[in-house]
Amino acid sequence: GQPAPPVLLTEGLTRRFGGFHAVRNVSFTLNEGEIHGLIGPNGAGKSTLFNLVTRMLPASSGRILYRGQDISRMPPARVARMGLVRSFQISALFGEMTSRQNLHVALMRGSGLGWRAWMPDRSLRRFDPAAQDIAARVGLTDVLDQPAAALSYGRKRALELGMALALDPGVLLLDEPLAGMGHEDIDTVCDLIRDAARGRTVLMVEHNLGVVERLCDRVTVLQRGEVIASGDYTDIAAHPQVRSAYLGA
Ligand code: ADP
Ligand code: MG
Repeated sequence: GQPAPPVLLTEGLTRRFGGFHAVRNVSFTLNEGEIHGLIGPNGAGKSTLFNLVTRMLPASSGRILYRGQDISRMPPARVARMGLVRSFQISALFGEMTSRQNLHVALMRGSGLGWRAWMPDRSLRRFDPAAQDIAARVGLTDVLDQPAAALSYGRKRALELGMALALDPGVLLLDEPLAGMGHEDIDTVCDLIRDAARGRTVLMVEHNLGVVERLCDRVTVLQRGEVIASGDYTDIAAHPQVRSAYLGA
């Protein structure tokens, strides 16, 4: 039969801020089931590309296809419901609420209920078993009843990931999941990402090339808003511009 379309495909995707091209003519594919690394210097346009494909930011031109369907003009909430989800940001956590309650809210959103329908008792009955499963996966079981604001930085990041997993997305976008982590946490977070990637497709921005080599099936390199290389780690590591930007060669 026909091969399945890529999970995500962009064609000539461009975003300008004034006259400045943050993302320029990016054509890129994300294949089903892969962990795809997006790398590039600060300001290369990586976060902007995430904002474009999740429709948080309108494109200046170009197309975005999700499983063959044109989502170029779709509202962001609908894109998220279709299964293309960006990890929550720490700033989106409800700091006064416990980790457990934050997970309940995310599970509620995932089940199509608005978070405004949140009620402590009812949410507890309906969503707590799933919240406990997710907490175990992301290593938060022992802090479920602590306010999110009181968690360490690493655990806030784990909670963000848990909240994204609560939506059970087909495609998970992670923007610098290891940012601010100590070396001792890197192995834990890598295991966590590998676990989160089971049964889904992951696109992750990551600066640590060792981590990219370990985790990613394919890598795309952005520089000044443009794709300069794409392939497996060995291919891109051999690219002259990647070598000079990252490897000091
Ligand atoms: P990266 O995530 O790769 O570090 P970004 O996508 O955050 O890069 O930013 C790419 C470029 O676009 C940067 O030069 C940044 O200053 C610019 N930029 C991003 N968002 C905006 C915005 N809302 N308004 C103006 N310029 C922006
Ligand atoms: Mg960024």
